[in-house]
Amino acid sequence: MRFDILTIFPDFFSSPLAEGMIRRAVQDGLVLIQTHNIRDYATDKHAMTDDRPFGGGEGMVMKPEPLAAAVEQARGSGVDARVVLLTPQGRTLDQQLAEELAGEEQLILVCGRYEGVDERFRAAYVDLEVSIGDYILTGGEPAALVLLDSVIRLLPGVLGCGDSAENDTFSRGSRGGLKYPQYTRPRIFAGREVPEVLLSGDHAAIERWRFLAAVRRTISRRPELVAAMEFTPAERKLLRENDISLPPAGNGGE
Ligand code: SAM
Repeated sequence: MRFDILTIFPDFFSSPLAEGMIRRAVQDGLVLIQTHNIRDYATDKHAMTDDRPFGGGEGMVMKPEPLAAAVEQARGSGVDARVVLLTPQGRTLDQQLAEELAGEEQLILVCGRYEGVDERFRAAYVDLEVSIGDYILTGGEPAALVLLDSVIRLLPGVLGCGDSAENDTFSRGSRGGLKYPQYTRPRIFAGREVPEVLLSGDHAAIERWRFLAAVRRTISRRPELVAAMEFTPAERKLLRENDISLPPAGNGGE
């Protein structure tokens, strides 16, 4: 998969892309990440990428021509790339959207700054607007990095063989809910012991414990997710036997 990042601060990405799983994914040829300095596409002699807003008011607006030229350059390869604008006014990034984007061949990520981008660039070039949450960042770069990271770890071959994205929180294996709590050595830490069942070697009992712990955790921390979780009749019976009651819409059609 190929990512092209359009930014006025390409150095922002140097260190994050040179670490951990992303670095390995790039080295292994699973992803190609190219940054484009929007300034290189400015046409005036001062290399201006922003200007004052028509109609007056505070701040600066990113000019459409350098952004358009950078998109055209990034498209280059001829692949049908999806142009994504990072903006607090877009669709909120969640695991479902990350999974959807992981199916693309090329994403062109446009990082805004100042008051954002000229509306005509958005209308003419942008296929999808993505927000990483209801708060305002100084620029689209951290948002692009979050999107990139969440998509790359879903690509085949990126996670180590022992890892699976399928059972993560919000993913299918966790029924869209939260994952169960995890423990490692030592067996006692800060006076707290690892739950006995996890040391038992009884795989069925461990699976049961993890299932119940995950549902309890989802109900207590993110009750709004429970409504969309589906359970088999046997799982519903197990939940009842353990005094876990689901909100009416989350009972899997019972
Ligand atoms: N004036 C804009 C508004 O009120 O909607 C906010 C501009 S913000 C200071 C500058 C840039 O940061 C935006 O153009 C966008 O690229 C990025 N940005 C800020 N918050 C974001 C968020 N929550 N998600 C994605 N991008 C964001």
